[in-house]
Amino acid sequence: MSDCVLVINAGSSSLKYSLVDASTGTSVAGGLVERIGESNGLLRHRGPDGESEREQRIESHDDALRAVLRAFASEGPSLDDIELAAIGHRVVHGGDRFADPVLIDDELIKAVTELIPLAPLHNPANLEGMEVAQRIFPDLPQVAVFDTAFHQTLPEHAYTYAVPAAWKEDHRVRRYGFHGTSHAFVSGEAARLLDREPAEVNVIVLHLGNGCSATAVRGGQSVDTSMGMTPLEGLVMGTRSGDLDPALHAHLHREVGWSLEEIDRVLNRESGLKGMAGENDFRELMKLVDAGDAAATLAFEVYCYRIRKYVGAFYAALGRVDAIAFTAGVGQHSPRMREQVLGGLEALGIRLDTDRNQDDSQEARVVSAEDSPVAVMVIPTNEEWEIARQSLGVVRAQK
Ligand code: ADP
Repeated sequence: MSDCVLVINAGSSSLKYSLVDASTGTSVAGGLVERIGESNGLLRHRGPDGESEREQRIESHDDALRAVLRAFASEGPSLDDIELAAIGHRVVHGGDRFADPVLIDDELIKAVTELIPLAPLHNPANLEGMEVAQRIFPDLPQVAVFDTAFHQTLPEHAYTYAVPAAWKEDHRVRRYGFHGTSHAFVSGEAARLLDREPAEVNVIVLHLGNGCSATAVRGGQSVDTSMGMTPLEGLVMGTRSGDLDPALHAHLHREVGWSLEEIDRVLNRESGLKGMAGENDFRELMKLVDAGDAAATLAFEVYCYRIRKYVGAFYAALGRVDAIAFTAGVGQHSPRMREQVLGGLEALGIRLDTDRNQDDSQEARVVSAEDSPVAVMVIPTNEEWEIARQSLGVVRAQK
């Protein structure tokens, strides 16, 4: 049997896919279908001969996956020649039911459906992806890999909010955490870079993309994370506020008359960097900073300061930190942000190396000084590989 896994990440109007060799992490092919449900759907496919782009009407996720199969057939690699081992699905919310990847069957579908209230935008799209893939590949094992699963090791004192105890039981109110697949992968890679076993090292992982989250990983297990019951809590993000005063909703509702739905929408879609500076793309934000834009400069400072606070909090939570690992678009590519976040923390054993920090390679690397007690790392995340590996693990365990 081959080690190739087709990894699927179905969003509400998009479907990302990658054909991954789970043993090496190589993505043999992949792509993205966008604007599902609109007349000008777009399929971008990357195969052995490069990239292609095709605009076409794509009515549904079913249509999208069939278009992907046609792209594989016409542009390669041919799926007839590759014996797929499994299909791995990214699923956003597994609640407190799933601490591990799970083979998809009717019971799993039912459980993910029951979790829709916790992830009303994401879980329905993920379900759609699973159902379509099962229809099209009825004979292939399919595995759900949850974004929340890695954080199921959080101790009770880290996942409990100080609200009436019955809310946890009755309304599932607790911290779940997200980006778990990325935090799992990056913390494992951090241990590898240190040439030590994951069980021996403590790592703070900073995943800074459009969504941003920090995780404290002790001995390979997540012990605290910045995102909460929803992905809104924690760090400042492209369009999400992250932490704020929980009394804000009541205040705005009472004083300004906004509905809870409207406030929720603004905090998720119109806040963060976009809210503060009118720009959620970090590269564009930095152009504004360079041009002397005051709002962008403040947004950059708020963004970095929030990360720095979490580094301090998770340092205390872990007691001893071996590595701080930056990942995702901003984490991997902004030396200026890393300097602003970690500069002046020598007393905590954190010493960046200016030259190493400037280096913009695609490799996982150490960017701290040789004598820095805490290693600072830049590690490209690879959620697709992690999903492929975990999916293959589930399938092999069945045999
Ligand atoms: P997602 O969370 O959607 O996977 P990414 O991890 O791709 O997102 O991160 C997207 C963010 O990374 C954007 O804000 C983008 O501007 C930023 N980014 C990408 N490349 C660079 C770069 N070279 N320098 C600074 N920021 C970058």
